[in-house]
Amino acid sequence: MVFAYFDRLSAAQKRIYRKSDGIPAVPLPRRQDLHPLIPGLSAALEREDRAAVELLCREIADGIAARLEVPLLRVRVLAVRPSASWGELHGLYEPAEGRARAVITLWMRTAKQKRVVAFKAFLRTLLHELCHHLDYELFHLPASFHTEGFYQRESSLFHQLVPDKAETGPTA
Ligand SMILES: [Zn+2]
Repeated sequence: MVFAYFDRLSAAQKRIYRKSDGIPAVPLPRRQDLHPLIPGLSAALEREDRAAVELLCREIADGIAARLEVPLLRVRVLAVRPSASWGELHGLYEPAEGRARAVITLWMRTAKQKRVVAFKAFLRTLLHELCHHLDYELFHLPASFHTEGFYQRESSLFHQLVPDKAETGPTA
């Protein structure tokens, strides 16, 4: 499956798109060691502790970057999402490009209702922005497109960090 904007891409961009679309998963070594961070993040988000949320997001991002041997990045968590006529910004990835590190910015509250973002949606946004980082730094793609493969990689990371019940049993 390709998304509608595919037709508007140049031949070179289409090659990048197909490469991105062909990578369905990102296997994470020693992912069990990251599992203890997840309930902590959920709790910090629930009590609206911005500093703790930011710290835990950094630990998760550092943990993933270290396991995949890609450059570390900066993660900052801000209070209320910016919004404009086009909608709301959930997260933002800015490649390093001269800076020491790439930067991920996340927002804890929705712009419209100022409600705290639901935990799973929030974690997915962090992983989504991390997937842009991996496109450049792990897969060495010259551009990072939202392909079906891209969303599969986002889900792949999510399910490795938030395993199904079967995976958390005594044999895990
Ligand atoms: Zn994106």
